[in-house]
Amino acid sequence: MIVHSWVVLNVERAVNQDCIFCKIIAGEIPSAKIYDHGGVYAFLDIAPVNKGHALVVPKKHYATLFDLPPDLGRELTTALQVVGRAVMDATGAAGLNLGMNNFEAAGQLVHHAHFHLIPRHAGDGLTLWTQHAYGSVEEMQKLTQAIRSAVG
Ligand code: AMP
Ligand code: ZN
Repeated sequence: MIVHSWVVLNVERAVNQDCIFCKIIAGEIPSAKIYDHGGVYAFLDIAPVNKGHALVVPKKHYATLFDLPPDLGRELTTALQVVGRAVMDATGAAGLNLGMNNFEAAGQLVHHAHFHLIPRHAGDGLTLWTQHAYGSVEEMQKLTQAIRSAVG
């Protein structure tokens, strides 16, 4: 009976043997765990942008945002709110950035979907990205149309 449960659990967890986050979730690699509820796990990033920088990850292996089942949305949102608030409280942060890198071109290094929660302090000097202007209003309108069509 116990063996049967173990097999089912492992099939359901959809572990990717080569994935460092799957190994962390399975307890094979240590992590600074801060949250473990339902299908979601969170731990501190080992190389924080600011101290308290946390990673919120689905326990099952999904590569990017586009692989996440919509059903997980509620649990993920709860985890982001609970962990985000706790990170702010514990670090005394005045703000919080939520970020997600999808695909290597966007800087994704670990191919197990994850959300970065970064505590922010006034004047901490962190710049996430620089912004630019469109070449023309027409260019922006054309792109708006293209994206609307792609949304379907
Ligand atoms: P990304 O570039 O979005 O794929 O981010 C991956 C993040 O995982 C980076 O910020 C790393 O510092 C972090 N990371 C990698 N290995 C570990 C680990 N063993 N424990 C905690 N964080 C890690
Ligand atoms: Zn994984």
